[in-house]
Amino acid sequence: AEPLELAARVAPIGNEVVLVIADDESSQRRVEAVRRDFVANISHELKTPIGALSVLAEAVEAASDDPDAVQRFAGRLQHESSRLAELVNQIIDLSRLQSEDPMLSREIVDVHEVVTEAVSRSRERAENRGVSLIVARTAHTYVIGDRWQLADAVSNLVQNAINYSDEKARVTLSILQVTSDNDRYVEIKVSDNGIGISQEEQERIFERFYRVDYGRSRDAGGTGLGLSIVRHIALAHGGSIRVWSRPGQGSTFTLRLPAYLGPDPQESALAEEE
Ligand code: ADP
Repeated sequence: AEPLELAARVAPIGNEVVLVIADDESSQRRVEAVRRDFVANISHELKTPIGALSVLAEAVEAASDDPDAVQRFAGRLQHESSRLAELVNQIIDLSRLQSEDPMLSREIVDVHEVVTEAVSRSRERAENRGVSLIVARTAHTYVIGDRWQLADAVSNLVQNAINYSDEKARVTLSILQVTSDNDRYVEIKVSDNGIGISQEEQERIFERFYRVDYGRSRDAGGTGLGLSIVRHIALAHGGSIRVWSRPGQGSTFTLRLPAYLGPDPQESALAEEE
């Protein structure tokens, strides 16, 4: 923005005086620019699978007297159209998550159930690739939020851990409750011993449509939106997502969420039954 448009404001917060270098107008403009960027990216990303569908449809037509070829092209048509459907679903999720009211429901969620749901969604893919999925035993911990969004976030991390590892790799999930004097939070960790991510790339992987190696990610069926969705789900829940990784050794993604501090829902349920 032009310097003159950045009408600086002085805002008192508690005893401190903070200089705010962006007025409402320029932050609105920034939001608008981000939105334009998003739409431009989407249009670009949609062109590839739509182009592929049209080429494949032509190929089917041209091969009408070769049943084997028709079968092959039809299979690829199916594959490309399910990729397109996944991309559209992720775009819908992301635009909801970027809206003013991103969390779908607010309930007490058992974190262990979230992890179990995410693992069951990925079980088949892991088996197909010979990857072992291990869930470390944990105590019951609770957060406030939307269980399906949280399961989406964890399952995105698990899918990535499977996709970016060699066959026979190990993916481990663990839940940690961290308590300090003024903080209580839950951490869900997803670790793999896969290909890893370099330091420079770690800073970019949470961006929309960012893929480390376009060719390799495409083979793994990625859209480049998964981690951006995870980040928005974490933020909507007042949490965060971070990554530790070393190329060739593996990666650990940590989803941190504020812990639910009320009475234990399981104990309350038991007390009600009695
Ligand atoms: P994609 O749909 O391509 O998987 P994501 O947003 O989920 O998109 O991830 C962005 C990029 O980050 C991926 O293309 C991949 O290169 C990298 N990445 C994500 N998770 C891992 C992981 N566990 N190990 C190595 N690289 C990863």
